[in-house]
Amino acid sequence: MQEIKHFINGEFVGSQSGKTFANLNPATNQHIGTVHEGGQIEVEQAVAAARAALKGPWGTMPLAERMAILHKVADGINARFDEFLEAECLDTGKPKSLAAHIDIPRGAANFKVFADLFKNVPTESFMLDTPDGKGALNYAVRKPKGVIAVISPWNLPLLLMTWKVGPALACGNTVVVKPSEETPRTTTLLGEVMNAAGVPKGVYNVVHGFGPNSAGEFLTTHPDVDGITFTGETRTGAAIIKASSAHIRHVSFELGGKNPGIVFADCDLDKAIEGTMRSVFANCGQVCLGTERVYVERPIFDEFVKRLKAGAEALQMGAWDDACTSMGPLISQEHKQKVLSYYQKAVEEGATVITGGGVPMMSGALAEGAWVQPTIWIGLPETASVVQEEIFGPCCHVQPFDSEEQVIEWANATRYGLAAAVWTENSSRAHRVAGQLDAGIVWVNSWFLRDLRTPFGGMKHSGIGREGGVHSLEFYTELKNVCVKL
Ligand code: NAD
Repeated sequence: MQEIKHFINGEFVGSQSGKTFANLNPATNQHIGTVHEGGQIEVEQAVAAARAALKGPWGTMPLAERMAILHKVADGINARFDEFLEAECLDTGKPKSLAAHIDIPRGAANFKVFADLFKNVPTESFMLDTPDGKGALNYAVRKPKGVIAVISPWNLPLLLMTWKVGPALACGNTVVVKPSEETPRTTTLLGEVMNAAGVPKGVYNVVHGFGPNSAGEFLTTHPDVDGITFTGETRTGAAIIKASSAHIRHVSFELGGKNPGIVFADCDLDKAIEGTMRSVFANCGQVCLGTERVYVERPIFDEFVKRLKAGAEALQMGAWDDACTSMGPLISQEHKQKVLSYYQKAVEEGATVITGGGVPMMSGALAEGAWVQPTIWIGLPETASVVQEEIFGPCCHVQPFDSEEQVIEWANATRYGLAAAVWTENSSRAHRVAGQLDAGIVWVNSWFLRDLRTPFGGMKHSGIGREGGVHSLEFYTELKNVCVKL
């Protein structure tokens, strides 16, 4: 059984309190590792190490050298691809086909992309007239923000953690990461890669633990942290803002969603079915950008539902390393209970269950895992809880619509505003509808097509701020103006 320790100041260390918690494989519910739980002491040590590292070789390193080290980090992940793959799949149960395609390669890419991007971003300068006629020159320079607290979730553990750590380090900051208690492995393994790549001690630190009254809260309320970047549930974001408000610093929040998929009768139906299948069921529905509300124009509603049902019923649930597996389990027994409570609520609220709605029969070692059936409902009003609340499971409600105005109104009638997908072959409609949706990201005829140079984030309760491309630079640096009288 693996022992998973903190990574502080370049070394793997256990908790001084001796407190640990179990690392479970959600596919089997088996205890596969023991994780050290960090307390005030470990957070204190990690923040102090990160603060000291800002003044060490990292702080004075030439840009080209820093960027070369980040390339080595990416290469180091790729060189140990199979270890990262196994670690991610054991923590999450996700199929290896998915993690090999998305989680691990994109986790590595986050270091290269942001290193390359930031080398070439200019800052502004202005000449100012002065009464003596000689003028003044203003120019802006960027400085690292300092010590960044990174609080990450369990659904795409390596990818979402490096999406923060990559740009943070590229900008010259140091980080303390608190990964989700459900998925501690890849964040820990990355410590070995950091050391091998020559990242100086204290630049990348990891403290394990939970949220409230544990490492998460101790880190986000620590006075010596200069910025907090968080991905997770909206209510956790609210708790972090409240708890950390005494110390003024920037936050970047990527929060929950209840994303609509809008399918017009003039779409390419094969593409719309394929894209909606992925957006609803990929990663067992545990993707923040995933679709949980599908709106289909009435003339193709029956055909669409029939084909989506066939797709859902063809999904193969199984072990992560079985090449036939296309859907894994939910992350935990606790999350399974939450998703099943929505399955029950949907029926109580009057839904017609097109497929699923329960727990599949799994055999052998998988019998005790956090499995639920892929599920499709129709027939609910827009006010139903399963249409309004984020479930984060492999399920969706499909609603027929009759006009563009109606579907835009329904799509926007939620407290969230993260992502939306629009399926139509009519390009002026595509632009018109995309422009009216309250969502930080709108895909037309695609889903999860990500360009890391573009702004990423949510409106309304789906987040604060934008990261991606130069927008990450805005969060991870302080911009300073220098005014020189000539
Ligand atoms: P979560 O909010 O339960 O946990 C996220 C992280 O916050 C974990 O590391 C957890 O330990 C920590 N945490 C919890 N309470 C805390 C507290 N009081 N103080 C400090 N840290 C605390 O989220 P989750 O269940 O891990 O992830 C699923 C959620 O994340 C979904 O709502 C999903 O939509 C959202 N998500 C959003 C995006 C996005 O880009 N917008 C991406 C992925 C996931």
